Amino acid sequence: MWQNRVRRQGSIIVISGPSGVGKGSVIDLLCQQDENLVKSISATTRTPRPHEIDGVDYHFVSVSKFKNLISRSGLVEWTQYGENYYGTLRSMVESTTASGKDLILEIDVDGVIQLRELGIEGTFVFILPPSTEVLANRLRGRGTESQTEIDHRLARARTEVYFAKDYDFWVINADNQIGQTVSEILQVIYTERHRIDQVILKQIYDVFDAIIPENR
Ligand code: 5GP
Repeated sequence: MWQNRVRRQGSIIVISGPSGVGKGSVIDLLCQQDENLVKSISATTRTPRPHEIDGVDYHFVSVSKFKNLISRSGLVEWTQYGENYYGTLRSMVESTTASGKDLILEIDVDGVIQLRELGIEGTFVFILPPSTEVLANRLRGRGTESQTEIDHRLARARTEVYFAKDYDFWVINADNQIGQTVSEILQVIYTERHRIDQVILKQIYDVFDAIIPENR
């Protein structure tokens, strides 16, 4: 089959949205439903939450280790969020995309601005809550942040929504509708996988050269 001879490079899929919008659960479901999706594991200086596992949810590192990663260009992008640093590991981006899988980055708008400035291509998806009230309730219900931290995250949500302009797609994660959210994002991802780029085009030409050389 000629299809087996055309192999795309993996790409980056960026998922952002206000804290509490449900990005983590959406990304876990996306990865369960498509074996060609891999979740990026960021480095952070934040303290792990009770259920979080080092190397699975984040690579939890010290501030000095994080600064060391920055100085040796080990991060594609990074940000300071509240008191903590977060960044995407260059090694993870390179190895996953080279293997032909798509890497999902759960990063904030600061990170997206950096990726856009660097001209890094990808599919940028912004997840919205159905309303600010729902967002506030979800943050309180999570019970993992102090009231001060919740207030900070809600204030930041207002700023972040403004940056929806830097994304390609928007999706609303309504209460009890996560399946719908996931299927909408999968549709976007499947469409993007069929975009013609130079890598694919060369492979298509190579295959058809062999079969119908007189048409070139
Ligand atoms: P949390 O503390 O809730 O896990 O994450 C706080 C915020 O940091 C979220 O908005 C999340 O998207 C963002 N974040 C997590 N990892 C990264 C990263 O590697 N880079 C950037 N720019 N933001 C990140």
